[in-house]
Amino acid sequence: MSINRLQSILLLGTTTPHRRLLPPHSYISRAWFCSGRSFRNPIHMETDASCDAAVVGDSDLLLKKIDAIRDAGPAKLQVIADFDATLTRYRVNGCRGQSSHGLLQQENPEYDRKRQELYEHYHPLEFSPTIPLEEKTKLMEEWWGRTHGLLVEGGVTYDGIKQSVADSTIAFREGVVELFEFLEERDIPVLIFSAGLADIIEEVMRQKVHRLFKNVKIVSNRMEFDDNGRLLSFRGKTIHSLNKNEHALDMAGPLHDRLGDVDGPPYENASVKTRLNVLLLGDHIGDLGMSDGLNYENRISVGFLNDNVENSLDGYRKAFDMVYLNDAPMWGVVKLVSQLCPVGGD
Ligand SMILES: [Mg+2]
Repeated sequence: MSINRLQSILLLGTTTPHRRLLPPHSYISRAWFCSGRSFRNPIHMETDASCDAAVVGDSDLLLKKIDAIRDAGPAKLQVIADFDATLTRYRVNGCRGQSSHGLLQQENPEYDRKRQELYEHYHPLEFSPTIPLEEKTKLMEEWWGRTHGLLVEGGVTYDGIKQSVADSTIAFREGVVELFEFLEERDIPVLIFSAGLADIIEEVMRQKVHRLFKNVKIVSNRMEFDDNGRLLSFRGKTIHSLNKNEHALDMAGPLHDRLGDVDGPPYENASVKTRLNVLLLGDHIGDLGMSDGLNYENRISVGFLNDNVENSLDGYRKAFDMVYLNDAPMWGVVKLVSQLCPVGGD
């Protein structure tokens, strides 16, 4: 029974009672088209296995959360999202998409090689099952610190960042812009929480989306430039892959405090802290820690399982309320927020 209801809410979406709740955007009709790229698995909830649909571990629990968040209204809701491989696609034109760190090309290409060497050394340690967390956290601080040091030493300019983004293989998932627009219209804040580089994420948004959103804040490593646009240093405490949970709210700065090209005041951290219903988007189970700084009442977590589906699905299904497979577009999340914030609601 509840699965049928969930299907009608999240997956089918074309029945009259739900259609009237949808926002008046043309993209909605596209949300239900099938892509033919779905993972065909017996536990897949979708009745039409050719559609991009969510895998849901506990549909009763999810329905309760949807009801609670919808009843509390959009004023209580915030979205916390990881950036790389969550908002962006895992694959672009058949190749692995680049990350906000990975796409950056320095003035001295020798330093690109040095950063790659650090990646090859530290990345296996990051995922080692035998290194204790405390030790691993120190290693990650070391990796990020050395990488940032190489960026300063080998030279980065703001113009170089623009060119790197222009040359990069990075793309947002289809539906991300519509998701941000929907949330912006309802004054629902979005925290993009990333261990990457804030200045690059902003430039990706400028070049790929061609606009900025007043409700979006980027919590990530931020560069300091001199008057000639040369990288001098990094601001604040380093955010790496294992401390994304500690500074989500307190390190948040406005999206465009430097360029000032977003109208209106930035969202205050205090306002975000009073929004106790959370929609969390991530592509790693560790991303669930992004909401740890918040004493939330209800949290719906959406996981994007981009690769190695067969081995990882069980863990993702247990960890996240909903799991999208195989680099799915963002349309399912657009549909979800339209149900959390129905037209005519608060
Ligand atoms: Mg990610």
